[in-house]
Amino acid sequence: MDLQKTDVLVIGAGAVGAMALWQLSKREGVSVVGIEQYGRVHSHGSYAGESRVFRTAVHEGGTYVRMIQRSRDLWRELERESGRDIYYEVGALSIAPEGFPDLVTALGTVREFDLPHRVLSDSELRKEYPQHLIQDGDIGLFDEHGGGLRPEVAIMSALDIAEKNGAKLFFNTPVIGVEEHPGGVVVRTTQGSWLAGKVVVASGSWSTRLSPELNELLRLQVLGLTWFMPRDPAAFAPDRFPAFLRDQGPVHFFGAPSFDGYAFKACTNPEWPVFRDVAEVPTSHTREELIKIGQRAAELFDGINPEPVRQSVHHCAYTPDRLPVVDQSTSGRIVTVTGLSGHGFKFIPQLGEWAAQLVAGDDTTVDPRFALPAHMQRLAQLGAYTGGGH
Ligand SMILES: Cc1cc2nc3c(=O)[nH]c(=O)nc-3n(C[C@H](O)[C@H](O)[C@H](O)COP(=O)(O)OP(=O)(O)OC[C@H]3O[C@@H](n4cnc5c(N)ncnc54)[C@H](O)[C@@H]3O)c2cc1C
Repeated sequence: MDLQKTDVLVIGAGAVGAMALWQLSKREGVSVVGIEQYGRVHSHGSYAGESRVFRTAVHEGGTYVRMIQRSRDLWRELERESGRDIYYEVGALSIAPEGFPDLVTALGTVREFDLPHRVLSDSELRKEYPQHLIQDGDIGLFDEHGGGLRPEVAIMSALDIAEKNGAKLFFNTPVIGVEEHPGGVVVRTTQGSWLAGKVVVASGSWSTRLSPELNELLRLQVLGLTWFMPRDPAAFAPDRFPAFLRDQGPVHFFGAPSFDGYAFKACTNPEWPVFRDVAEVPTSHTREELIKIGQRAAELFDGINPEPVRQSVHHCAYTPDRLPVVDQSTSGRIVTVTGLSGHGFKFIPQLGEWAAQLVAGDDTTVDPRFALPAHMQRLAQLGAYTGGGH
C-alpha cells in the first residue's frame, strides 16, 4: 500500500475539526493534514444554519463555564486573526416563568461564577423588549457576554488560517477506515491512504461509522431551524434584539437576531425520534410541523408573519447526559471529539485547543467525565441510551 505521511491528521473539517486544525497549525515543525468528506464549509454539518446561540449563563450548570470563558477569548482571537466578524456580543436573553428549573439553574450559574447579567421583571421585559410577547409572571435573565456566533464564517476563518499556517486540506474526500498500527495510524480515504503519527477524529454525526465503539453511546437527534419575517425588521436587528431562549409551558424556543435584514431565527423542535445514522434523518419539516411552529412563534413574538420564510433540518450526535466525548486511545495516537449534543458550538474553540494539546502530550484541563470509559460507565448504569429532548 502506497502511504502518504503526516504527523497529525484531522478527520472532518466541521466545527471541531476546523478548530483543531487552526490550533494544530500554530505548532512549529508539525505537519498537519485535514480531510473532509464534503467541500470547504458545506450545508450538511451540525454547524450549518447561519447562527448559533452563545451563552455564558448556561442552564446546564457550572460544568461548561470555564470552557465557554476560554472559548470566548479564542473566538475573539479568531476574529482578530481572520479580520472577520464571528461573535456578535449582543447579549442572550432567557425568558421563562419565575421558578422555571432551567432559569433557576442559569441564575445559580451566573451568581456562582459572577458572570455579568441582569434580571428583568415582566414589566421591564415588556418595556425593553417589546418584540417579545410576555406573560404575567415571566422573568428575564440577560447574559451580557451572550450573543450570536456565525458558524460558517467561523469555520471558513479557522480553515483559511490553518491552511495559511501550512496545514494541507483535502475536500470531497471521505475517510473510509482508521486502523492503529505499531508505526502509526493508517487512514484510508476514497483518494488513497495516509500514515499519521496521531489522528483527531472530529466526524460529528458520522462518528459511529468510523468508530463502532461509540454505537451504544451516541444517538442522532434532529434539530430544525425556522426564520420568520417581522413587519418591522429593524426591531429584530442585532443592535436591538439579543439572542434568546424562551420557555412557556412545554414549548421551548431559541433563536438569534436578524443577520439578513429581513428575517430572524426562531426555532422549536417537533417530537422527532432519535436515529442511529445520518441516512435515516428527515431532511425537511412537514407542512403540518411548519404551521404549528408558526402558530407558536406568533404567540411569542409581536408583529411577525407566522409562515416560516426559511427552514432547514439538521442533526447532531448526542450522548445521554449531553456531556461531550473528548477521548484519547490507550496508545495515545487517536483523539476523538464528538457528541456535542446540540449545545456544543459555543465551546468548540476550547475543544479544538484540547485536541491539539492531547495530540502533543501537553497538560490539559479536560474534564475526566468526557473520556469514553467514563461515558460507558455512566451508560452501563443507565442500562441503555435514554437521552431525549433538547
Ligand atoms: C440545528 C442546530 C442548532 C444548534 N444550535 C446550537 C446553539 O445555538 N449553540 C450551540 O452552542 N450549539 C448549537 N448546536 C450544536 C453545534 O452546532 C454542534 O454540536 C456542532 O456543530 C457539532 O460539531 P462537530 O464538529 O461534532 O460536527 P460537524 O460540525 O457536523 O462536523 C463534522 C464534520 O466531519 C465530516 N465528516 C464526517 N465523517 C467523515 C468522513 N468519514 N470523512 C471525512 N469527513 C467526515 C463532516 O462532513 C463534517 O464536516 C446546534 C446544532 C444544530 C444541529
